[in-house]
Amino acid sequence: MISIALDGPAGAGKSTVAKGAAKALGFIYVDTGALYRTVGLKFLREGYDTNLDCHIDAILKTIEVDIKFIDGTQHVFLNGEDVSEAIRTPEASMMASAVSAKPPVRAFLLEMQRKLARENNVLMDGRDIGTVVLPNATLKFFVTASVEERATRRYKELKEKGSDVSYEEVYKDIETRDYNDSHREIAPLKPAEDSIMFDTTGNTLQESIDNLIKAIKERIN
Ligand code: C5P
Repeated sequence: MISIALDGPAGAGKSTVAKGAAKALGFIYVDTGALYRTVGLKFLREGYDTNLDCHIDAILKTIEVDIKFIDGTQHVFLNGEDVSEAIRTPEASMMASAVSAKPPVRAFLLEMQRKLARENNVLMDGRDIGTVVLPNATLKFFVTASVEERATRRYKELKEKGSDVSYEEVYKDIETRDYNDSHREIAPLKPAEDSIMFDTTGNTLQESIDNLIKAIKERIN
């Protein structure tokens, strides 16, 4: 099986680029952020805030997370409910970032991710895929873009979905998540030593998709 790890900060265009490239290559695209968002959503629904003043293990015992591919598109399920849309709110983003810093949460989701890569050719998008989840991935990319560009992209995306967030909120949200993700003790966001840097600043999504496909095809065959 071929596994391609795509790590990088929020809003770098990873998901759109990875989705496009996976389709062209005939791989499945795995969005691991959606798994952390699903766990985060459960904590939100239980009424907790990002301080997570609670017994994490006890709540994890009440959670079943599933991932299914319907017409090639990933759907995530929380205790049987398809929450693929519900996890896309700014609150769920912040909660995903909070729960993802907790070792029991990372351990809870680890095997599911490895199993997907054992059974399929995958393009897996996350923060610690090349460093922790798939240290032996066939290829590893670290996708980046400037904070301004990432905030602009995420803002447009949320607006198109009818959200009433402001650009400033989105910008701050990205900065906070970058900080949290790269400063946590467990599985911090950082490029794997053998990863290829892939900067999408100044490129359209289509250009980035084409560049990624080219970079992959140059290296595997
Ligand atoms: O990729 P996305 O922005 O949907 O991820 C939501 C949050 O989940 C991130 O801010 C990060 O804290 C966490 N995450 C993680 N490890 C991954 C994927 C996501 O810690 N592999």
